[in-house]
Amino acid sequence: MSEHPAIPFNDLSRGLQRDRESLLRTAAEVIDSGYAVHGTQHRAFESELAAYVGVDHAVGVANGTDALELAIKAVRPADRSVVITAGNAGGYTSTAVVRAGLTPRYADVDPTTLCLTADTVRDLIDDEVGVVVVTHLYGHVGEVSALRALCDTRGIALVEDCAQAIGADSPSGRAGTFGHAATISFYPTKNLGAVGDGGAVVTRSQHVADRVRQLRQYGWSTKYDAALSGGTNSRLDEMQAAFLRVRLPLVDGFNQRRRDIIARYGTAASGVAPEALAVLPALGGHGAHLAICRSRKRDAVRARLREAGIATDVHFPLPDWTQAAFARYAPSAPLPHTEAACNEVFSLPLFPELSEAEVERVCATLRSVA
Ligand SMILES: *Cc1c(COP(=O)(O)O)cnc(C)c1O
Repeated sequence: MSEHPAIPFNDLSRGLQRDRESLLRTAAEVIDSGYAVHGTQHRAFESELAAYVGVDHAVGVANGTDALELAIKAVRPADRSVVITAGNAGGYTSTAVVRAGLTPRYADVDPTTLCLTADTVRDLIDDEVGVVVVTHLYGHVGEVSALRALCDTRGIALVEDCAQAIGADSPSGRAGTFGHAATISFYPTKNLGAVGDGGAVVTRSQHVADRVRQLRQYGWSTKYDAALSGGTNSRLDEMQAAFLRVRLPLVDGFNQRRRDIIARYGTAASGVAPEALAVLPALGGHGAHLAICRSRKRDAVRARLREAGIATDVHFPLPDWTQAAFARYAPSAPLPHTEAACNEVFSLPLFPELSEAEVERVCATLRSVA
C-alpha cells in the first residue's frame, strides 16, 4: 500500500464544507418562508435553470430518472410504443421506459464518443418507434443536430439525457437545446448536485412543459382533477431548489476545472500504449462529468491504481440487456461497440475539489502504467 492518504473516487464533504455558509443561509430563508414545496425558490430556480440551458421552460421533478419517464410520456406520439436508446448508459433510460409501459430498443454507440448518432440509430427505425433518447454520456455532446433531423423526418420525438452534461456545449449548440425535451439530474455527485435528490425537464415547448407540470402532480388539470393519465407525484423540494440556486452559478467554473483535470490525466497517460490505457479527451465545451479511460487490461490497471491508493469505478460495466430486468429487450444482433465499451472503460477520480497534490499523484501513477 502507498504511504499517502487514499484518493477517493469522490468526496461530497469537501463541496459541502466549501458551500456550508451559503447553504445554511439559504436553508434558513426557506424555513422562514414557510414553503416546503413549489414556493418562490422553486419558481426562481426553474427560471434560472431555463435561462442557463438556453430554453424557455424548466420543470423541477424529484430526480433524473423521473425526469426521463415524464419527458418520454410528454413527447411520445400516442400510437408508438418503442423507445430507442443506448445500452451503455447505466440503465436509467431503460428503467424510465419500462416504468412508462413502453419498450426499449437498443442501438449501438459510436466507437469513439460512445454515444448514439444518426448513423447508429437509422436502421432501427420503424413505425413503432416514437422516441429516441440520446444520453450525452460522460458530458459529450455529439452531432445531435443530425439525429434531430433524422427524428423529424420520421415523426419521432428526441429526448436528451443531460444528467451528465449540464452546461456542456458543442459547436452546434448547448446540451438540452436540441431535443423536444431534455432531462437533468441533481443527484449529489452530478456536475450540479443537490444535498439530496432532484431533477428537471427542460424544453423549448410550452406544450411539453405544461404536460410535464401536469404529470409531476398526479396528472391534475386543476386540484383533485386528474385529466391526464400516467401522472405521478414527482416534485423538487423547495429546500433542494434553494440549494441548487446557490450552486448553479458555480457550474461553469466546476466544469472547467473538471476539463483541466482530464487534460492532465490525458497528458500523463500519453506515453502509455493505447491498448493498455487511453484517457477519453474532454475538449471544447465537454461536460466532463467523468474521467473515462479505456483499457484492454482494465483489471490490471485498476489494481495498479488501487495499490497506489487511488480509487476507480466502472461506468458502466453491464449493457442494459445483460441485466435480468431488461433481458427480454435484448437485441437480436450483437452491438459490438457497446459491448467493447462496457468491457474496457473505467473512471478515475474526478471532482472539482480534488487538490493539486492529488491530481499530480494520479498523473504520476498513470505515467508508470506499463
Ligand atoms: C444519474 C443519471 C441519471 C439518473 O438520475 P437520478 O437523479 O439518479 O435518478 C440518468 N441518466 C444518466 C446518464 C445519469 O448519469
